Amino acid sequence: MTKINIDKEKCIGCGTCVAMFPEIFELGDDGKSKAISDDYTGAGYDKDTIEQACPTGAISIEE
Ligand code: SF4
Repeated sequence: MTKINIDKEKCIGCGTCVAMFPEIFELGDDGKSKAISDDYTGAGYDKDTIEQACPTGAISIEE
């Protein structure tokens, strides 16, 4: 099963993932990104595009 993981130690809360993939990410109360959906393919995105969008490499996807 697909799972999107965010390394909270690496996330700097830049908001890039939220801006690029608003169906998938939002910023939490801690100022860090969190995944609100794992269905990125349904939203029209692919694994590499999402992982590479993060400037700190905080996003990893298990397929
Ligand atoms: S793009 Fe990366 S560093 Fe920026 S908010 Fe998203 S997970 Fe955090």
